[in-house]
Amino acid sequence: MLSVTEARERILSHFQTTAAETLPLVDCANRVLARDIAAAYDLPLFNNSSMDGFAIRAEDSVPAAAGSSVTLSVVADIPAGSVPTVTLAKGQAARIMTGAQVPAGADAVVPVEDTDFHSREAGTTAPQTISIAKNVKPGENVRLHGTDLKTGDVILHKGRKLKPQDLGLLAMLGIAEVPVHRILRVALLSSGDELIPVDAPLSAGKIHDSNSYALAALIESAGAQVLRLGVARDTRASVTALLEKAITEKVDLILSSAGVSVGAFDFVKEVIEANGKLDFWKVNMRPGKPLAFGEYQGCKFIGLPGNPVSAFVGFEIFVRPVLEKLGGQLPGGRPTVRVRCEEQIDSDGRESYLRARVRHENGISSASLTGHQGSGNLLSLVQANALLIIPAGVKCVPVGQEVDAILL
Ligand code: AMP
Ligand code: MG
Repeated sequence: MLSVTEARERILSHFQTTAAETLPLVDCANRVLARDIAAAYDLPLFNNSSMDGFAIRAEDSVPAAAGSSVTLSVVADIPAGSVPTVTLAKGQAARIMTGAQVPAGADAVVPVEDTDFHSREAGTTAPQTISIAKNVKPGENVRLHGTDLKTGDVILHKGRKLKPQDLGLLAMLGIAEVPVHRILRVALLSSGDELIPVDAPLSAGKIHDSNSYALAALIESAGAQVLRLGVARDTRASVTALLEKAITEKVDLILSSAGVSVGAFDFVKEVIEANGKLDFWKVNMRPGKPLAFGEYQGCKFIGLPGNPVSAFVGFEIFVRPVLEKLGGQLPGGRPTVRVRCEEQIDSDGRESYLRARVRHENGISSASLTGHQGSGNLLSLVQANALLIIPAGVKCVPVGQEVDAILL
């Protein structure tokens, strides 16, 4: 039997990161950056005021510290977006708005609240003189050129999924187009004669197809698009028809659940083998021991187990890393933390992924299982916020021992 790590590495070795495309910034939210981005200029671009107030020479305000106010003559009015033309001399001030360039000679800004000028209405003209009752230090309320970042600084690294604030920073730096990886497309099929759509009435022996809903959402959570192929009947013809659709659509990956085991009606396995190749592995894990990997007409294929919890765990352990690699993302979609077991956990020696609830209290993370761990019991996965990893070879984890937990 393969270990989980061996199986994952074997699968990953068959995938190459897709090419990049350059998109306008407006289309880049949540897209994966394909290259490091360096700043083409410094930020802030110029010394500017962080307050509405009066730009002054800080030394002129020194007497105000002693309780006496200082009166300065206002020689300019500097709205945001304008270029100051004055150089402040001793005893002079300039009215200035937030974000406006600080004039030469000035090295501080007194907020309007700390002056005797109380007109706040839009359109008010600047006063002739201004009285300051407070001492300001050099640099106060001035955002200095280049203090946030310098030309050439790498501001975003390749592999990062672009967040809203990243787009803001790119825009600040005038970067209108960004190299990102293509959105991946994954064809998804379920298989089994027992499966009926969620909105069809149940009849004897049938169950609703639940995997395609959970798996589609997982695929989307990894940033890829889903092509829902539906449910393949347990016949060669039905399986073939769905797989052919995936080929016509030129997807990056075909993902299936069920039908790749050793059952007499597991035609997915047979159809793929006849038109490509298929490795069927037993992975030393629980749930989700059977895992199929191969190619159909040149398109990569991963076959997850049919049991709903096994399919979910198989996605997190094998498929998410594949989508991250294909899509150029840095690995590590789900964080792992150390947690203390609140109950004794018995295991069969396979690497096990157990549904659990992790709590963080007084700086300690602890976990308890959410119910019976049957691979069809989706409720216990719904109630879980983590998968505890019981390593291979471990038969018993005593109360209080720490294990790794993947936070869902
Ligand atoms: P199989 O791999 O076909 O032997 O299926 C294993 C188990 O998973 C069986 O109990 C199936 O009924 C169940 N199963 C397979 N596919 C799905 C699905 N799409 N949704 C819910 N259960 C499924
Ligand atoms: Mg089946």
